Amino acid sequence: MTKRVAVIGAGPSGLAQLRAFQSASEKGEAIPEVVCFEKQSNWGGLWNYTWRTGVDENGEPVHCSMYRYLWTNGPKEGLEFADYSFEEHFGKQIASYPPRAVMFDYIEGRVLKAGVRDWIRFSTVVRWVDFDEATGLFTITLHDMEADRVYKEQFDHVICASGHFSSPNVPEYPGFEEFNGRIVHAHDFRDAREFSGKDVLVLGASYSAEDIGSQCWKYGAKSVTTAYRSAPMGFNWPDNWEEKPALQKVEGMTAHFADGSTKDVDAIILCTGYRHYFPFLPDDLRLKTANRLATADLWKGVVYVHNPKMFYLGMQDQWFTFNMFDAQAWYVRDIILGKIEVPADKQALMADVAEREAREEASDDVKYAIKYQGAYVKELIAETDYPSFDVDGACEAFFEWKAHKAENIMGFRDNCYKSVITGTMAPVHHTPWKDALDDSMEVYLQN
Ligand SMILES: Cc1cc2nc3c(=O)[nH]c(=O)nc-3n(C[C@H](O)[C@H](O)[C@H](O)COP(=O)(O)OP(=O)(O)OC[C@H]3O[C@@H](n4cnc5c(N)ncnc54)[C@H](O)[C@@H]3O)c2cc1C
Repeated sequence: MTKRVAVIGAGPSGLAQLRAFQSASEKGEAIPEVVCFEKQSNWGGLWNYTWRTGVDENGEPVHCSMYRYLWTNGPKEGLEFADYSFEEHFGKQIASYPPRAVMFDYIEGRVLKAGVRDWIRFSTVVRWVDFDEATGLFTITLHDMEADRVYKEQFDHVICASGHFSSPNVPEYPGFEEFNGRIVHAHDFRDAREFSGKDVLVLGASYSAEDIGSQCWKYGAKSVTTAYRSAPMGFNWPDNWEEKPALQKVEGMTAHFADGSTKDVDAIILCTGYRHYFPFLPDDLRLKTANRLATADLWKGVVYVHNPKMFYLGMQDQWFTFNMFDAQAWYVRDIILGKIEVPADKQALMADVAEREAREEASDDVKYAIKYQGAYVKELIAETDYPSFDVDGACEAFFEWKAHKAENIMGFRDNCYKSVITGTMAPVHHTPWKDALDDSMEVYLQN
C-alpha cells in the first residue's frame, strides 16, 4: 500500500516539503501520498498577511505575525531558492530587501509552477495527533472549518511545519493594568501609521524591536524608546530614538527604567519573542526546545529522536530560512523514500543532538553562528539532489548585511548583493527605504 505522509502547515517549510516530493515525482520516482493541512485559507504561512489580530474568521488564533510595510530584514540573496531564482520568477533581477507582498509572490511562484496546491487542504486545523505503537501509524484529528466537520485520518509519517514565530511570549510589568495607552505584542502589530505622532516604547533588543521601532520611526512616530534586558542593540539611531536599560514599572503614562530614568509614552510594543507552541501534540511527540540553532531532540535538526517517524521542519533559530527549509525538506523526503537511513539506536540520535549543541555553544560570535548554520545547510544538501549552491557566498552576504546595519541602521536596506544562484548583482532600488512609504508590489517593481 502507498505510504501516507501528513505535512502540518503550508508556510515556507511545509511548501518546501511539497516541492521536494513533487520534484522527485517529476524525475519519475514513486512518491507517497502527501497531504498538507493548513489552517489558513491560503498558503505562505507568516507571509500570508492579514489585518486581523486575536482570532481569525474561524475563531482560531491568528497565525500572522507580519505587518504592513514589512520588508525583509536580511538580504534576499541569503534565502533564494536554489531551484527557483528571483530572476526566474520576476523575469529580471530585483533589489535586495523586497517588501512582504513581493516575497509572497516569489514563494507562491515556485509552488504554482510545481502544481502542488491540490495537495493542500486549506481552512483545516490539525487538532490532535496520536501515535499507535502497535500499528506504527499516526491518527490525526482534523477540523475542516468550511464544512465545520471534525474527522480523523491515518498516516505513516507526520512532518510538523507549523512555525514558531506565532505564539507570543507576553511579559507582565507593574502598572500595565492601569496604563492608559495601548499595549500590544509584536504578534498583533499591524500598521506603524497607528503610532504616527506618538511616543512609543518598544520592549526588547532583537529583530522585532529593531524593525518595529524602525517602522514606527519611518511612519512618523514622535519618538522611539527601546528597552533592553541584557545589552543594547547599539546602532547609530536617529536623534528621536534612545535605548534604555530594562523597564521596571509603569505609572500612569510614565515608564521607569533600571537606571532610574523615566519617559512618558503613549504606547508600549512588546517585542518579547515567541514560543514553540504545539497545542495539537501529546507529550511523546511534542518538541520542547529553546529558540536556538541546535534544537533539542532533533537528529540532523529534523528527525524527532523519541519517535523517528515524526519530523520537524524550520524549528531552528534562523539566519538561513527558505533554502535551509528546502535542505531539510529534501533530506526528510529522502529518509521517507528510504534513501537516507536513520540510525536505529536512540543513543546515536541523541549523540548527534549533543554534538550540535556543543558546537553551537563553542562561541557566541555572530559570524560563527552564521557559518554554523551555513555548514548545516551544506551538510544536508550534500546528501540529496537539492541543487548545490554557494552557501559560503550566502554567508558573505549575511556578513555584509551585518556591516551595513552597523554603518547605517536606517539605510542598510539600500544596499545590494550578488545572487549566489544566478551570479547577478541586485540593482539599487529606485527609492531609499526610509522614503519608500508605498511598498506595494506594483511600485516596488517599477524600474
Ligand atoms: C515579523 C517577522 C518577520 C520575519 N522576517 C523574515 C525575513 O525578512 N526573512 C526571512 O527569511 N524570514 C523572516 N521571518 C522568519 C519566518 O519564520 C520565515 O520566513 C518563515 O515564514 C518560516 O516558515 P515556516 O513554514 O517554518 O513557518 P510559518 O511561516 O509560521 O508557517 C507555518 C504554517 O503552519 C500553519 N499552522 C500552524 N498550526 C496549524 C495547525 N494546528 N493546523 C494547520 N495549520 C497550522 C500556519 O497557519 C502557517 O501557515 C520573519 C518572521 C517574523 C515573525
